[in-house]
Amino acid sequence: MAQKVSSELNRRALRSMSGGVNSPVRAFKAVGAEPLFIDHATGAYIYDADGNKYIDYLQSWGASILGHANPLVTETIHNSAKKGTSYGLSTALEAELAELIKRAFPSIELLRMVNSGTEAVMSTVRLARGYTGRTKVLKFEGCYHGHSDGLLAKAGSGMTTFSVPDSAGVPQSIASETLVVPYNDLEAARKITEQFADDIACVLIEPVAANMGVIPPAEGFLEGLRKLCDSINALLIFDEVITGFRVAPGGAQEKYGIQADLTTLGKIIGGGLPVGAFGGRTEIMKFLAPDGPVYQAGTLSGNPVVASAGIAVLNTLIETNPYEELESLAGLLEMKLKEAFEDVSLPVRINRVGSMLTVFFCENPVSNYSSARTADTSRYTSFFRAMQKSGILFPPSQFEAAFLSTAHAIRDIEKTITPLKKWLQKHKN
Ligand SMILES: *Cc1c(COP(=O)(O)O)cnc(C)c1O
Repeated sequence: MAQKVSSELNRRALRSMSGGVNSPVRAFKAVGAEPLFIDHATGAYIYDADGNKYIDYLQSWGASILGHANPLVTETIHNSAKKGTSYGLSTALEAELAELIKRAFPSIELLRMVNSGTEAVMSTVRLARGYTGRTKVLKFEGCYHGHSDGLLAKAGSGMTTFSVPDSAGVPQSIASETLVVPYNDLEAARKITEQFADDIACVLIEPVAANMGVIPPAEGFLEGLRKLCDSINALLIFDEVITGFRVAPGGAQEKYGIQADLTTLGKIIGGGLPVGAFGGRTEIMKFLAPDGPVYQAGTLSGNPVVASAGIAVLNTLIETNPYEELESLAGLLEMKLKEAFEDVSLPVRINRVGSMLTVFFCENPVSNYSSARTADTSRYTSFFRAMQKSGILFPPSQFEAAFLSTAHAIRDIEKTITPLKKWLQKHKN
């Protein structure tokens, strides 16, 4: 597959943009490949600047649950844009989108729109601190919550040590307000919440981890966190930027039957345009300006074009209720992948929750960050490249989720397995 135009575009981009990209993962460094430059995409397929067609299992990192360029969504965006793209004042669209979100998430009584998932989580943590009068945040190793300073931190060597920043430019003083324990380790969470019972404002989690590859919550883990939060009067924040409207309309809260105090959303609810949202109980959300003392604002927040796209997507999801179909299609992909790997005795662990999955190239179950890290990334790289050459785009990193959309069909899965089997013939144990 020729990549001449992408290569040229990459060289051009490198001259004017830091690293040639506007988000690091797009540089394909994790798979040592040249980045793709996209020309257009429709439904399950994405086309690069060289005219190559791929079955797209990225779907804009899960944002495009209806597939690319869904006709209703693009038509809605088009019509909305003709009425002006931003007013900096309120519209009926914002209330309509908020109502749709509220209906899906019983734990959300009031919410606020922002422009990215990062912004949603950052604002939510500030709100949790303002509401509780405490400063510390407990998060889980390998969970990603956007790139705000305090959340770019992972565990130090000891479980109870304060965390060190993961990124240059984050002061130690800020990172030290973040406590980190392993995902799915309720005992570690219990210990640290006891130790810092009066200091922890909130426990922040991806209820299904999807940014270290897909890792489902262990039985009882989320319930346990709910109880821990109640016992120390800390707020439980579910970061449902990926899982909201993905694993169920009401996200992981609906799927696992747990109510969060505060919830963050993004990706799907913007119909592929920049978006974020956060919400929760009225008594907490009342702490936000203009009613309360916690400041938060945004020139483009609740943007009319974004809101109209979000409404089109959420209405479609509610009307068509595609979740069972997505589940069975993703189940089929999982099964076919498993069979292909088993046929040649190549050990993999496939983690799947609903329509998102990760093939980990390792033998042991993957239940947290350290087990995810045992995956053979060079083998993943070989897999990724072989699939890309055959017109199938998996995430350009072992530690990212693959997503199905409602535009994918059984024939796409069949087309995925054929080249996989060819690659496996060369790489079997
Ligand atoms: C993508 C993501 C974010 C950040 O959202 P952006 O829109 O990229 O800022 C936050 N949390 C989770 C769980 C995400 O997957």
